[in-house]
Amino acid sequence: MPADPLVTMGEGDTPLVPAPRLSELTGADVWLKLEGANPTGSFKDRGMTVAVSAAIAEGAEAIVCASTGNTAASAAAYAARAGLRGAVIVPEGKIATGKLAQALMHGARVIALRGNFDEALALVRELARRHPIALVNSVNDFRIEGQKTGAFEVCDEFGEAPDVLCIPVGNAGNVTSWWKGFQEYGEAPRLHGYQAEGAAPLVQGAPVESPETVASAIRIGNPARWEDAMNAFTSSRGEVRAVSDAEILDAYSLLGAREGVFCEPASAASVAGLLKYGAEGRVVCVLTGHGLKDPQTAMNRAGSVVPCEPDIGSVEEAVLG
Ligand SMILES: *Cc1c(COP(=O)(O)O)cnc(C)c1O
Repeated sequence: MPADPLVTMGEGDTPLVPAPRLSELTGADVWLKLEGANPTGSFKDRGMTVAVSAAIAEGAEAIVCASTGNTAASAAAYAARAGLRGAVIVPEGKIATGKLAQALMHGARVIALRGNFDEALALVRELARRHPIALVNSVNDFRIEGQKTGAFEVCDEFGEAPDVLCIPVGNAGNVTSWWKGFQEYGEAPRLHGYQAEGAAPLVQGAPVESPETVASAIRIGNPARWEDAMNAFTSSRGEVRAVSDAEILDAYSLLGAREGVFCEPASAASVAGLLKYGAEGRVVCVLTGHGLKDPQTAMNRAGSVVPCEPDIGSVEEAVLG
């Protein structure tokens, strides 16, 4: 029997690095899992390698997804590699520049929907029902299987689970995956999930019709993995809470300037939540995507460059002044 097809680019095995400044600030032993080090710059690749490999095994000719950006970038890359057609549906004007550039460069058909993510997801579900197209959103169980490997890696590295895992929550597939991974490993850390205040359906206990936040990757009002995620928070004796955009951006800047780690705004929600609500013991914050994904937010936030004439006096003044 031929082996199952495998479409892979070396996902996972991402760095797990100590965070000395955050440890000092919180009194906990804080570590950062740098998921931006995956092939397309987010954890979505862990699930996409499995979902696209399975799509090929099932004879799909094309893959489709709705996306706030990173699923689109990842799906487009793996479709290109597999020789499949890829189509991604994103909310018009709402996706970060880097992610859009990726999806387009990988040759996917990028469709800008005049609607939000939740509407896009409902439409691609219907599309996949009608046509032989594989749906690679996190409603796809293969995605969950792939993404659980993050939990395996952390447990392998520490020899046990951390006390607390802090993680941003959007469509809630990733927290579902990490919990599945920990359980299969025989571990049960507390899961602390964080949503953006303007897109916090799990915190409020009801869908949010028009979700709004600077953290575009978690701008989702009706998570597909709602029940799985709530089960994970309850079973782990964890919690799901909200952080404001200002708190997210403060954590984003702190990570860049004091820990040397550039992540995207949604990823910083894990650290914003840790700083706001606290945690004890060994804590891992999942930094879900790379900062280069969203250069616009960085440039709006960062200091300005220093103009300089090409003579030594001016350079001295510019560097030392
Ligand atoms: C997809 C994504 C999330 C949210 O993950 P869910 O599985 O939708 O909860 C968080 N951060 C980044 C960078 C993402 O791409």
